[in-house]
Amino acid sequence: MNTPVTIIGAGLGGLTLARVLHVHGVPSTVYEAEPSPTARTQGGMLDIHHDNGRPALQAAGLIEEFRGLILEGRQATRVLAPDGTVLLDEPDDGTGGRPEVQRGALRQMLLDSLPAGTVRWGRKAGAVRALGGGRHQVTFADGTTATADLLVGADGAWSRVRPLLSDAAPEYVGISFIETYLLDGDTRHPASAKAVGGGALLALVPGKGIQAHRESGGTLHTYAALSKPQDWFTGIDLTEPAAATARIAREFDGWAPELTALLTDGDTAPVLRPLNALPKGHRWDRTPGVTLLGDAAHLSPPNGEGANLAMFDGAELGKAIAAHPDDTEAALTEYEQALFPRSTEAATEAARDFDLCFGDNTPHSLIALLTGNAQPH
Ligand SMILES: Cc1cc2nc3c(=O)[nH]c(=O)nc-3n(C[C@H](O)[C@H](O)[C@H](O)COP(=O)(O)OP(=O)(O)OC[C@H]3O[C@@H](n4cnc5c(N)ncnc54)[C@H](O)[C@@H]3O)c2cc1C
Repeated sequence: MNTPVTIIGAGLGGLTLARVLHVHGVPSTVYEAEPSPTARTQGGMLDIHHDNGRPALQAAGLIEEFRGLILEGRQATRVLAPDGTVLLDEPDDGTGGRPEVQRGALRQMLLDSLPAGTVRWGRKAGAVRALGGGRHQVTFADGTTATADLLVGADGAWSRVRPLLSDAAPEYVGISFIETYLLDGDTRHPASAKAVGGGALLALVPGKGIQAHRESGGTLHTYAALSKPQDWFTGIDLTEPAAATARIAREFDGWAPELTALLTDGDTAPVLRPLNALPKGHRWDRTPGVTLLGDAAHLSPPNGEGANLAMFDGAELGKAIAAHPDDTEAALTEYEQALFPRSTEAATEAARDFDLCFGDNTPHSLIALLTGNAQPH
């Protein structure tokens, strides 16, 4: 049986939408490409912001559950020079207001809050076509189909729903991250663990850097950033982890060994994450029966906002649908009228933050950003 709302993608945005709809008594079905909730480690810590992530969790009725996931002390931030000199050391004094949680735990919390069977795993959307009258048919990679009365693309950067609404496609922003993990850092990698400190470490120079975060269980999660064309990375064989990380680490020759060890001592194979963005101000004309949220709508360079924004979009859309039970178009119009200016502003801020982190004036501009002294955008 069809539910009133069909959501493509069980990321944080799609699941927040499903949960807020559920809170309002509106059933939905979420189709997710991955075969199971544990198919991929969800990676990374997220800090939840008071102006978007938190109100989304409030709308989802999950604030208490969320509080149980917060990892204390993780808001500490250190900025290091390449030689390991400490340039900024901000402890987590409990007043930061940006509580940190594991992304995987947050996603699981949302999954646990939905009625059984809401998420259909292993259903990768391929073609999506309009049937007229605001209805759409989604064909999945396994050959099955679903018909949607209201279709929401929550399927991330490479959304298969987005082409129904716009021709925009993500473009490479010129920087890629290489992701590594050191497990049990305090015991097995004490020098690197000390450099990272209790929360986040940032060691950035123009066009490159090493960023790491202390996760639960003393795991040190690192993104090395390099400003290189995408072709440059294709020459590195990531299936040979030792050679690949040694090659990446050569770009950081002369940096303190406790920093480069975050790359070369990795306990898991490195993962390449090219960074892409949709054009700033991406929007579309109102099209009956379909909309987008999260990265599908406004993919931007990472500045710690994307997951928060996706959850906020999901909550706002859920509330709008619930407020107009018999008028889908009124709900989508209301949602998009707020979405477009909000996303444009967020994308502008993301581009600015990215430049402050990796542009010519870093690390001074980074420190200004972290201490609240950056020029307003
Ligand atoms: C390196 C990096 C670090 C980041 N760090 C942070 C951070 O610290 N804080 C923060 O707030 N944001 C961060 N972000 C941004 C954040 O990850 C995204 O903005 C956020 O995940 C977007 O959520 P979403 O639900 O829109 O999409 P996604 O999280 O991408 O979820 C989309 C879901 O759709 C599924 N899917 C995709 N295609 C299909 C298909 N065809 N059919 C069915 N299902 C499909 C995917 O498997 C996935 O489950 C970071 C991003 C990057 C790249």
